[in-house]
Amino acid sequence: MFASVARVTLKAAAATVLGTGVYVVSYPVFCKQRSEKVVVVGGGSAGIGVAAMLQNEGVKNVTIVEPNQTHYYQPLWTLVGGGLASAKNSQKDMKDVIPKGANWIPKRVESFEPDSNKVTLDDGSTVEYDYLVVAVGMQTDWDAIPGLEEGLEKEDSGVVSVYHPKYCSKTWQTFQSIKNNRSFNAANPATFLFTFPPTLLKCAGAPQKIMWVLEDTLRGEGKRDHANLTFCTPGASMFGVKHYSEKLEKMRVERGVHAAFENKLVSIDVSNKIATFLDIKNNSNVKKHYDMLHVGPHMSAPTFLRKSPLSDSSGWVDVDKHTMQSTKYSNVFALGDCTNTPNSKTAAAVTSQAPVVVHNIERSIDKLPLDGFYTGYASCPLVITRNQVLLAEFGYGGQLAETFDRKNGKFPWKFIGTEGYLQQRFFFFLKETLFPYVYWNLWTKGYWYGTNGPLKPNVVRAMEEAASVSASR
Ligand SMILES: Cc1cc2nc3c(=O)[nH]c(=O)nc-3n(C[C@H](O)[C@H](O)[C@H](O)COP(=O)(O)OP(=O)(O)OC[C@H]3O[C@@H](n4cnc5c(N)ncnc54)[C@H](O)[C@@H]3O)c2cc1C
Repeated sequence: MFASVARVTLKAAAATVLGTGVYVVSYPVFCKQRSEKVVVVGGGSAGIGVAAMLQNEGVKNVTIVEPNQTHYYQPLWTLVGGGLASAKNSQKDMKDVIPKGANWIPKRVESFEPDSNKVTLDDGSTVEYDYLVVAVGMQTDWDAIPGLEEGLEKEDSGVVSVYHPKYCSKTWQTFQSIKNNRSFNAANPATFLFTFPPTLLKCAGAPQKIMWVLEDTLRGEGKRDHANLTFCTPGASMFGVKHYSEKLEKMRVERGVHAAFENKLVSIDVSNKIATFLDIKNNSNVKKHYDMLHVGPHMSAPTFLRKSPLSDSSGWVDVDKHTMQSTKYSNVFALGDCTNTPNSKTAAAVTSQAPVVVHNIERSIDKLPLDGFYTGYASCPLVITRNQVLLAEFGYGGQLAETFDRKNGKFPWKFIGTEGYLQQRFFFFLKETLFPYVYWNLWTKGYWYGTNGPLKPNVVRAMEEAASVSASR
């Protein structure tokens, strides 16, 4: 009887702290113990976090299938590329982040067989499940640009990318050697190109975050006029959300950064340091010389996922964009970069999705209708100098969802506001210091809920709010 009471909740304290209504604190002392077997495929940011939350909620039979021995906190890579963090702080041994009590199978999933509730591994063995959570992330297609792999591997090529644990360190090293090279000066400036891909990209802000940090570094050392910087993108603006794009465009003009809009990188001539772009408007190729070329690589759904019965025609796991349940199999859920939900693909989005997935799995086990609701929240801390961040936060359709907004933000954080130097210094502190700490110490242990901090959000309440928002439109 005592156990079936399900959990001890501490609503009042959280409600007082956040002031926005009823929240349920995330530390149930006694949870309803559930014996259903949940298999989580992928031990990245989403897989580890959701597995830990499931365990904390009393879903004890959790298995993680993840082939890599190393787990990465990828948001740090931009700072590594800008010389603001060390690559070693972005990684830990996988065994050290697998939640206590969870079973880890260090193998790759080859295929899904949802009709018989099992997955097949790369050694041919199979794993059965009652519930499946797919969290396999995105695939980086390094070979999509001829010359890119060669350039990244060649030490003095000038070709770099923060989208890889090895090449993010190379980014800072290459930048430094160009910055300190005396043959570059105001009369003979070095050329830096920063490209954005024509595909979906995780952390779509990263290709320009690294640009802003490096630009600020040159400025700080009195060498800004020793360099020409150009942001090259197939798009027609700086960012996907108008509110932030306008701010970034203004900053671009003020800081003398060139833009090559509607320009798509198609190949790299590594020996001659020439990048070829397709000028989309004029449908012609343009060749640009570079001293340093930072590439935002092509990305896609993982190849093995594309042919799976769980996926849509583009290869992403087909889920309901609010409940995160598969549109085809009721005992399958997915979250993170691998789903077809139209949110910006970030770890911040994952922190909002994970409690929804956990809640809905519990509802499903209890044979109740799913009422956990993801609103599309994502955030992108746009690092704009070596100590400032423009914090972009938005939901589905680019609707602003700013935690610190003076009018619509979350109490008590709303008093901080979003504009101003001190605010941007504070957001930098979050990005550089707090979030990495929280990631390793709370998120991977299932005790961090994004904008709600360590307090578990009432995802059902979010659904009621969202329903009333759409009804009032
Ligand atoms: C340079 C950079 C900067 C970023 N900056 C930010 C930021 O500032 N803020 C932010 O919120 N987000 C940021 N992100 C995005 C964030 O890191 C991702 O959105 C997040 O990691 C997504 O988590 P995921 O679990 O879906 O994917 P991942 O963390 O990539 O994990 C996927 C996992 O699935 C495993 N896997 C793949 N295939 C299989 C298979 N067949 N079988 C089993 N396992 C498999 C992989 O090995 C991997 O461990 C950044 C990313 C990059 C690269």
